[in-house]
Amino acid sequence: MLKIDPFELHSVVTGTVRLDGGAMFGVVPKVLWEAVTDVDDSNRILLNTRTLLAVDRSQGRVVLVDTGCGAKWSQGKADRFAVRYDPQAVPNALASIGLFVDDVTDVVITHLHFDHNGGLTYWYDEPDGPTRSTYPKARHWVHQRQWEHANQPTVKDRASFVREDFAVLAEEGLLHMVEGHEPDPPFDGAAWFVSNGHTPCQLHPVFGTGSQRLMFIGDLVPTVAHLRLGWVMAYDLHPMTTIAERETVYRRCLEKGLLLAFPHDPKVGGVAIGGTVERPIVARSLPL
Ligand SMILES: [Zn+2]
Repeated sequence: MLKIDPFELHSVVTGTVRLDGGAMFGVVPKVLWEAVTDVDDSNRILLNTRTLLAVDRSQGRVVLVDTGCGAKWSQGKADRFAVRYDPQAVPNALASIGLFVDDVTDVVITHLHFDHNGGLTYWYDEPDGPTRSTYPKARHWVHQRQWEHANQPTVKDRASFVREDFAVLAEEGLLHMVEGHEPDPPFDGAAWFVSNGHTPCQLHPVFGTGSQRLMFIGDLVPTVAHLRLGWVMAYDLHPMTTIAERETVYRRCLEKGLLLAFPHDPKVGGVAIGGTVERPIVARSLPL
């Protein structure tokens, strides 16, 4: 557990997924990225799916950031991405600190790609049947522009969005839309950073308001292996924007001590970085 006032922070591994290594590293040659990843015979690399759990006991606030792949998978589709998902991971993490699923007050949806959001909903009756929200008492934060994009994606990225992961949230009235490029803070002790390189208006929560802060970096930097400035995913809609946004974030890390929490790293929940903006290195792993 990492304490950044007023929050306790935990990185909860909800499962694993394997995505094509070439897609994950864009123009970086395989001879370079295979040295720093776990690659299988189908050229897929191993990724964790991580939920960041943030608890502010003084305000009674329990926040989840992203929810993993979820359990709404046919065997064929699950095999394509080697999806593993533990539906008890978040309930167990909550129980270990004396909390229940019904205590979750807020769910942050960084963006609506399936490997970040399948856990938002579940099949309550039968496979491929109707869905319900997993956290019906929570406000679900998503950027308005990301919501609009997910409902009308491009030919390039439409395979990344699965409507049954999120459509019912609107019907259940659970969505809390964030607007603009410098949105108002969501709640005490936190703020938003918005990026556009990976997908329109990805939403990154920043926890803490004092000298110590932590940003959930989402798919702007999915793993430690992606820290290097130019190691950008082929999934990104605007890779040069990703690079510029990473420069902005890395400057905050190096000059102001901003910490980073990852969505997909197979080993660490988060890090403090050192080195330079061009060539960041892991200064230390965080006890997340
Ligand atoms: Zn993504």
